[in-house]
Amino acid sequence: MSKLRYHIAVMAAKFSKVIIRLSGRNGTHTPGVVARKICPDFMAQAPKAPLCICVTGTNGKTTVSNMLTDMLEKEGKKVVSNRTGSNIVPGCVTNLLNSVNWLGRCRVDATVFEVDERASRLILPYVKPDYLVVTNLFRDSLKRNAHPDYIFSVIDTYCPDTTKLILNADEQCSSNLKPNSEHVYFGIGKQDDDKTEPYNLIADYTLCPKCGTKLKFNYLRYHHIGNAYCPNCDYKSADADYLATKVDKEGKKLIVREKDGNEIEYALIHDALFNIYNELTVITMMRELGYSSDEVKKRIAEIHVPESRYSETKVGNVTVVQALSKGQSAVSSCRTFEYVAEEPGKKVIMIAEDDFSDRQKSIEFIGWIYDLEYEQFARDDVMQVVCCGPRCLDHRVRALIAGIPEEKIAWDLDEVAAVDKVKLEGVDKVYILYDCDTYGISCKMKQKLLKRLEDEK
Ligand SMILES: [Zn+2]
Repeated sequence: MSKLRYHIAVMAAKFSKVIIRLSGRNGTHTPGVVARKICPDFMAQAPKAPLCICVTGTNGKTTVSNMLTDMLEKEGKKVVSNRTGSNIVPGCVTNLLNSVNWLGRCRVDATVFEVDERASRLILPYVKPDYLVVTNLFRDSLKRNAHPDYIFSVIDTYCPDTTKLILNADEQCSSNLKPNSEHVYFGIGKQDDDKTEPYNLIADYTLCPKCGTKLKFNYLRYHHIGNAYCPNCDYKSADADYLATKVDKEGKKLIVREKDGNEIEYALIHDALFNIYNELTVITMMRELGYSSDEVKKRIAEIHVPESRYSETKVGNVTVVQALSKGQSAVSSCRTFEYVAEEPGKKVIMIAEDDFSDRQKSIEFIGWIYDLEYEQFARDDVMQVVCCGPRCLDHRVRALIAGIPEEKIAWDLDEVAAVDKVKLEGVDKVYILYDCDTYGISCKMKQKLLKRLEDEK
């Protein structure tokens, strides 16, 4: 009976997708809803592709899964991925639907699933991935994700024992997932500007997970990312199978020492540390799939960080940068804030981060705004901070607490109107920082700013 349901679901969901496409939309969510209505165990019924990779984690999963898909496609594989769709159950079911033909048979070489870490319990046991890539686990929306330990327990419980894990050795939470499963670790070795003591507002893992003693760090990069050991027991960070030994930002090179001790030079795709981790994750996955270092080198040089994450446009002497800075995932924002603050030149920072979709359905929790490290912008080369959108006054209070002078802070309830408040004189760069809910708005802000720059040229 369930096989018949499965075939009817495939037909109906594919038909719904055709209709949605005709109406000019993508159809990345609804076909999955239709399929599950007819066949609730659609995920278990659908045949598996020869290769199935799931990518989860707090930050970087979209970038990693998109880059992986690009790499596999360039290698001539037929791949489906939920790259433009949702990463919760309906989006993943739609992805599976795309991997089968009208007869319900697998038609691809590989499926890549970006999986929301909280929804992983409803996805991993059914799609049974060959590989699970976990980028990292950080503090995220308190209301949705509670504590990272809770997300850890969800993945640890529901990831099948047969799945091979690709994990970040430098991340003190997810690196301890599934201790009895097969693991491959990646990490970035000690860098000149690393610290040895936690310095961020958010540092969630500072105690030994075995005995509770305060951890010591051979090097600490940010938050709880680094190489740790316990002075009281034998706990220490995992050894990286793929270790970036040298990050050459000027020469745009990344040197990776592999399991056999060979050092391979790759092109550096982007110089922000979080993107170097993303690139290293992709290199590790591709090498584990059996692609030679020469092949991976060639492909890495051809791919980019997705434009919905980072883009630059220059008009006259001013560069406008649009960068993702996920609001309620404060660690993501802190990383973007630090990267932006340390970029050379005089800059204006526009912040359009909001709890936009959450606010519509429930009582909002604004604690995340106080986790954002506005302190990064309390420096002379940040000429102005412009707080945009319905939460602009909360952001303004946070900026004042960080010691940013009042005269440097502008705000506007309307994000696009806020563009008029930017003081462009003597400025080299304007950053528009947005979160997942405000990407569309940030594009309008950018358009208006580019027009203003053209007009004032
Ligand atoms: Zn210990």
